[in-house]
Amino acid sequence: MNTRLDRLRKAMQNAELDAVLLSSLTSIRYLSNFTSDECFVLVTKNRNLLITDFRYTIQAGEQSGDRFEIIEAAGSKQLETVRDALSKEQVERLGFEEDCVSYAQYGSLSDLGPKLIPFAKELHSLRVLKTPDEIASLQKAQALADRSFTELLTVIHSGMTEKRVAAELEYIGAKLGSEGPSFDTIVGSGPNGAMCHAVPGERKLQKGDLVVLDFGCIFNGYHSDMTRTFAVGEVDTFSKEIYDIVKTAQRKALDALRPGITGKQLDAIARDYIREQGYGECFGHSLGHGFGLLIHEAPRASANCDTVLEPGMTITVEPGIYIEGKLGVRIEDCCAVTEDGKQNFCTSTKELQYID
Ligand code: ZN
Ligand code: ZN
Repeated sequence: MNTRLDRLRKAMQNAELDAVLLSSLTSIRYLSNFTSDECFVLVTKNRNLLITDFRYTIQAGEQSGDRFEIIEAAGSKQLETVRDALSKEQVERLGFEEDCVSYAQYGSLSDLGPKLIPFAKELHSLRVLKTPDEIASLQKAQALADRSFTELLTVIHSGMTEKRVAAELEYIGAKLGSEGPSFDTIVGSGPNGAMCHAVPGERKLQKGDLVVLDFGCIFNGYHSDMTRTFAVGEVDTFSKEIYDIVKTAQRKALDALRPGITGKQLDAIARDYIREQGYGECFGHSLGHGFGLLIHEAPRASANCDTVLEPGMTITVEPGIYIEGKLGVRIEDCCAVTEDGKQNFCTSTKELQYID
């Protein structure tokens, strides 16, 4: 029995679909283990087809096991193969991933015949509750990130550019076994830290800087996500005060993270504390997000997420304070919700770390 395919068929039934056509790397990987999107996956009531070209047929067979019929077809022949299968199975309502199909592709899909039904939301919700093997992969991904961070602090120093810091970090991660960065590494030094998603640039780390470092590693396709803010040499009292406020806000939210709390309530715990300290305006993003095969997945810890957190969901906890022209501080851990609370995948200390 394949749970993921069974759950997909159940979702298809609920949406009264005769078939689903998958075209995103994430959905294809989730359901078939195939690690390429140079294909279409068609799941009908009775068949699981993986249609790919000559370059990938061996890989597709090995990765998907015996659950999928592998059909070789190149280029435009792939959609012809889909069309034949749809007509053989008398498909009238076809689910598709409306969030990853271009306008041109939509035109081609519309010509297939069946009525197209948007199905991306249902596909996303299949992945919300992580299985123990997914949790294990996430834990390994984060372990790589924690080790990378520890090693990074021993090799970087003032005078290095933000770009170099990002390169060193990604190199260390790759050496340790990460399949790649989870997303473009964020390095924001000194005043650049006020840009939540600072792109590493030519600015050199200087004594007195706080540096925001947001990054992740990938293991088995699963993405980790952590942020630490560290100091270059001695920093002023104000920087330390801001750091402590963010650290306390994060701890409060982490302490409250358990099944039954909503994303909105979790967000409010950190946000209210930061507001009470007088920096409400300086925390302009939401508290966190789920993560897995994608770096951003459902649920959200945000003011407009009423989702009740359940065991098996993942969520980051990442409050921040950003002061234009001066500094930024963010601290982020990535966690899974468990029966009795949470499993925090991050082990790196949150005591302010100093480099020379
Ligand atoms: Zn992050
Ligand atoms: Zn994040």
